[in-house]
Amino acid sequence: MLHLKNYSNGKLVAPASNTYLDNINPATGKVFAQIPCSDASDVDAAVEAAEAAFYLWSTIGVEQRARFLNAMADYIEAHLEDFAKAESLDNGKPISLARVMDIPRGISNLRFFASAIQHTSTDAHHTEQPNALNYTLRRPIGVVGCISPWNLPLYLFTWKIAPALAAGNCVIAKPSEVTPYTAYLLSEAAIAVGLPAGVLNILHGNGPAVGQAIVEHPKIKAISFTGGTKTGEHLARTAAPMFKKLSLELGGKNPSIIFADCDYNNALATTVRSAFANQGQICLCGSRIFVERSIYEQFKTDFLHKVSLLQCGNPLDDATNFGALVSEAHLQKVLSYIALAKEEGGTILCGGERVYLDDDELKGGFFLAPTVIEGLSPYCRTNQEEIFGPVVTIMPFDYEAEVIEYANGTPYGLAANMWTQNLSRATRVAEQLHFGIVWINCWLLRDLRTPFGGVKNSGVGREGGWEALRFFTEAKNVCIRY
Ligand code: NAD
Repeated sequence: MLHLKNYSNGKLVAPASNTYLDNINPATGKVFAQIPCSDASDVDAAVEAAEAAFYLWSTIGVEQRARFLNAMADYIEAHLEDFAKAESLDNGKPISLARVMDIPRGISNLRFFASAIQHTSTDAHHTEQPNALNYTLRRPIGVVGCISPWNLPLYLFTWKIAPALAAGNCVIAKPSEVTPYTAYLLSEAAIAVGLPAGVLNILHGNGPAVGQAIVEHPKIKAISFTGGTKTGEHLARTAAPMFKKLSLELGGKNPSIIFADCDYNNALATTVRSAFANQGQICLCGSRIFVERSIYEQFKTDFLHKVSLLQCGNPLDDATNFGALVSEAHLQKVLSYIALAKEEGGTILCGGERVYLDDDELKGGFFLAPTVIEGLSPYCRTNQEEIFGPVVTIMPFDYEAEVIEYANGTPYGLAANMWTQNLSRATRVAEQLHFGIVWINCWLLRDLRTPFGGVKNSGVGREGGWEALRFFTEAKNVCIRY
């Protein structure tokens, strides 16, 4: 049994309450670790340490900060297999995916912001009559909070921590209580590279306890949050009256739009990936697949065939490319949506049921067969609410304007993907899609310099590149009359 600890003021420590939560391996359904059940006292202690470290960290210089971030990236790279295994055990995702996506991206996040912070510039404005010179400083905010979800644990955790630290802030970070393991390993990385005490503090525990205490703490001046839309709403209600800076990356209900003039094989293979990668538990997954009617039947047949080839099994096996859902509660939520889809008149073309693997160790795991549903209106609940699992709907369309209306017709606006070889159509449709991200003839192709985030109920603010560095700094204009 593993016993995880908080990382506070440079040390691994027990929570003030000295109580712990069970951490379950989704592939077996068994407890494999205990994690600190932290509360407001732990947040108070971490904030005190972070405040004490702020002067040193914010004045140490960008080269030094970059050196620490790169050293942490080097540490993860040297222990990549341990991190990938931890991510797979904790989340149920195939280790083959964690090795090539989650952990390398965690490394890239640290390296990207280590480099970016050394290439920043600020504005200067020359005023005439009267003559004055304005220059704008971008100063770190102070102590900031970073709260992340369970679906891409290290990937999203470092996506926040790296720009916050690079910009010179001290951080109180909380990973999801469902997947804390790689965040714990990151605290070992911070200790190994000698990150000054208090600069980064990682507290484990439940959202309503330790997460809420971070959001409420008067000395934490900004919160970067990724998670569900309902939690985001609650956070905004707490933080807004305290005038905190807020970045909210929330849920999605993303469309995949397949036009008849697409590069068919590429569209087909990528749509299987965009539907079912990480068991459909990526906020960017396309869960509503719209196919132009002239190729609908062919695409549906070929899609179902390719889905049938997904290898559901032990996430730690190299051959597995479809793992377990993250928890029993989440599995039950996803199953309830499959039941709803049936009530709404949907036909289950494949999947639809829990899978009990024929293996003593794995028979209690949270596996669900990849599920494709046909025959639903774009406006029914199944097509409006975020399911966040391996469940997609497939629907035909006749006209461009029609599919744009379907795609835009949910409360969400995170990411859309579209397949066509017609450049004019691609640009025209992209312009009309109400989403923060539109991928054309690709999916999840990320350049870390680009703005990342959604519109409508998918969030407020953007991460990535300068957007993240701007979020984690305050502008101060200095005006000199001469
Ligand atoms: P969640 O909202 O339940 O939890 C996210 C984090 O918030 C966790 O660390 C949790 O402990 C914490 N939390 C919960 N209540 C809190 C409170 N009152 N105060 C402070 N913190 C609190 O989300 P989840 O189930 O972990 O993640 C899945 C959701 O995340 C999905 O909706 C998915 O779309 C979304 N997501 C969005 C993006 C994006 O970039 N837009 C990326 C990944 C996941």
